[in-house]
Amino acid sequence: MSENALKVLYRLKKEGYEAYLVGGCVRDLLLGREPKDFDVVTDAHPEEIRQVFRNCRLIGRRFRLAHVHFGQEIIEVATFRALQAEGAHHERVLENGRILRDNVYGSIEEDAFRRDFSVNALYYNINDFSVVDFVGGMEDHRTSMMRLIGDPEKRYREDPVRMLRAVRFAVRLGFKIHQQSAEPIPRLANLLREIPPARLFDEIMKLMLSGYAVQNFEQLRHFGLFGALFPETERSLSHEPEGFPLTFLAKALERTDERIANDQSVAPYFLFAALLWEPVRARAGKLIEGGENAILAYQDAGNEVINRQLRLIALPKSIGMPVRELWALQPRFEMTQGGRPFRLLGHPRFRAAYDFLLLRAETGEADPVLADWWTRFQSAAELEQKSMVRSGNRAPSSRNRTRKRRSRSKTTRTPPVA
Ligand code: ATP
Ligand code: MG
Repeated sequence: MSENALKVLYRLKKEGYEAYLVGGCVRDLLLGREPKDFDVVTDAHPEEIRQVFRNCRLIGRRFRLAHVHFGQEIIEVATFRALQAEGAHHERVLENGRILRDNVYGSIEEDAFRRDFSVNALYYNINDFSVVDFVGGMEDHRTSMMRLIGDPEKRYREDPVRMLRAVRFAVRLGFKIHQQSAEPIPRLANLLREIPPARLFDEIMKLMLSGYAVQNFEQLRHFGLFGALFPETERSLSHEPEGFPLTFLAKALERTDERIANDQSVAPYFLFAALLWEPVRARAGKLIEGGENAILAYQDAGNEVINRQLRLIALPKSIGMPVRELWALQPRFEMTQGGRPFRLLGHPRFRAAYDFLLLRAETGEADPVLADWWTRFQSAAELEQKSMVRSGNRAPSSRNRTRKRRSRSKTTRTPPVA
């Protein structure tokens, strides 16, 4: 339990206000997990909160919140609110021209009913160590159930991101999504297309960097949410019932989860490059068939795919640029003769592009002999490197090819099976 959160609670009480811990931290504490952060709610208004704490900053234009700073740790303190002001609903209110200052303060009970899931709407009272529960959250906690508060369809329409949150929490906590909360999701999945792309980006990062990317991916697909987020990838996955596209992506996500479990860093651009690789590969293949050279084909395909994807999900430049580079470098691995391999080796994105190639080779989509050539090339001494680029990767694989062709011509003599 955060000592700083306790300080905030006691201080507010001392000043005569109500104050509770709420949301994710209460849920996680009940599960014996360490909360990521601690959120406090109170009946004090932002200006009043500021008067209580010197180390306090008010943030947010639409809805004012107080951040109480303790060195690195920030305790977020919000005032009880009454209405759902997030997401699509909020946007619509603004479009209608009504100015919503959002400072619609309410009672603790109203504050509970505007929250998303019952297990996220529990209030912890430090005075008597009790939990205040207006929505049956304790019972759902006992039965490990994610249950939307109120009418599920209405609540998803108000804010479709709640569908993604349902999946994310269910997977992370090992909870089930209550049948009535699960039922509307496939029908409403496409409402995600109305969500501002920047918000979807944030949600996808949470889903993919949670350490449960594989399970989240499976559940998102199960509910038809993945297709709403990555329509082109979903199409390519469903075209091939069993094949490397799924294996490749699943492998990439598995790697991500492993790295997070080992406290290693994960480059988000690698993840997005993997998520969109299959449509890029397919499109580049078409362009190459039409006579475009491979390097240009991958560049063009990459730009096309990413530009379409950006309408749904905002990728910051710091991700979009390296994603394109990672793709554009893939056909360059095929060129293993002359000075080109040395130039590729010196490329700032070489390491990531090579890891990407390995993943492709592992899942049968790229030539393992080629991947192996690059593995050897990197660690070889200069003299050996020079000899390697003289013959390139061509020599052994073209020999293989002729051998294969010969054996195939032999089999054609046997009559085909009817
Ligand atoms: P995490 O551990 O991932 O931070 P959390 O439950 O704290 O989980 P937050 O996104 O930090 O999730 O939100 C804090 C609380 O605010 C939630 O527990 C929930 O009560 C409420 N909340 C957040 N997003 C929504 C939403 N879209 N609709 C309704 N209530 C929400
Ligand atoms: Mg939180």
